[in-house]
Amino acid sequence: MKRVYNFSAGPSILPEKVLKIAADEMLDYQGSGQSVMEMSHRSKVYDSIIKSCESLLREVMNIPDNYKVLFLQGGASSQFSMIPMNLMTKNGKADFVITGQWATKAQKEAARYGEANIVASSKDKTFTYIPKLDPATFSKDADYFHICLNNTIYGTKYHTLPETGDVPLVADVSSCILSEPIDVSKFGLLYAGAQKNMGPAGLTVVIIREDLIGEPMEKTPTMFDYRTHAENNSLYNTPPCYAIYICKLVLEWIKNDIGGLENMKAINEKKAKILYDFLDSSKLFKGTVVPEDRSIMNVPFVTGDADLDATFIKEATEHDFVNIKGHRTVGGMRASIYNAMPMEGVEKLVEFMKEFEQNNL
Ligand SMILES: *Cc1c(COP(=O)(O)O)cnc(C)c1O
Repeated sequence: MKRVYNFSAGPSILPEKVLKIAADEMLDYQGSGQSVMEMSHRSKVYDSIIKSCESLLREVMNIPDNYKVLFLQGGASSQFSMIPMNLMTKNGKADFVITGQWATKAQKEAARYGEANIVASSKDKTFTYIPKLDPATFSKDADYFHICLNNTIYGTKYHTLPETGDVPLVADVSSCILSEPIDVSKFGLLYAGAQKNMGPAGLTVVIIREDLIGEPMEKTPTMFDYRTHAENNSLYNTPPCYAIYICKLVLEWIKNDIGGLENMKAINEKKAKILYDFLDSSKLFKGTVVPEDRSIMNVPFVTGDADLDATFIKEATEHDFVNIKGHRTVGGMRASIYNAMPMEGVEKLVEFMKEFEQNNL
């Protein structure tokens, strides 16, 4: 069996231990005589899986009791409409910071439902930084304030949160959830597609402060009404059963093998430092993001020569460093080094980059 070093931005690498447990339990989940994929979502055995997934997430992320955890489908992209339909209901207004493609999509979608103000943007420099924010420019009467906490494509991350006062802060955390502790109480709503750091595609996690769950806009589809899922413990209809099961295994791995999110953060920072230190010292490669806003999950870099980038990607792939091509809108390279990427994967990549540099300078 061969396993590559997979730097995919998503769907992405999963902990090998999780995959092995899933393989062992594939045909007969814990003596039930069924695969998790085959069992009724209303069965007792499945009920214990979804319940322990939720309680593990609450424990690992230290989610306060006045927040609901919802296991949904439709990807983070569906939240771009579900959030305004449910939250833009008092003053029909929300504020947005544009830090990349996902934040742009969130703002554009919200603009279909109300006033979607842009308070700042880093588009002028291809989203290579997080704009400085001045609370004086925020709408006092916004129903929420939206950010994308970690920008998967451009490799930036907020290291301080905007001060939004009483306006609920809403964040897309698709590519940084579970990478380090987050103070959930600072947010009204957090949402994430699972396929970066939580499990396979098909599961979308929403963590929402209870008082924000209320009457949505008229004609909001039942499936897009947070109440539907909150009142039915994410079992109004068939949830993404298998993805929830893998997410549970990932959470067990974080809790038991890693020792929680403080440890996860230390490991992730160490991995990212190996790569950034090399990029900062290299004569061939350079990181594209300003040092103070760098992500520890997604690391974009370039040589400055598109042909050389293409050669690097080709040779890297031949050496089993796969999915390292940058996003089609940015070019260059991007190493996504999510939780499951072992330290060794980053060390080996840097070794390979050093060799490539020697051969191509
Ligand atoms: C991947 C990603 C998305 C899109 O998620 P889907 O589940 O494909 O809809 C949105 N936001 C961020 C930050 C992402 O990384």
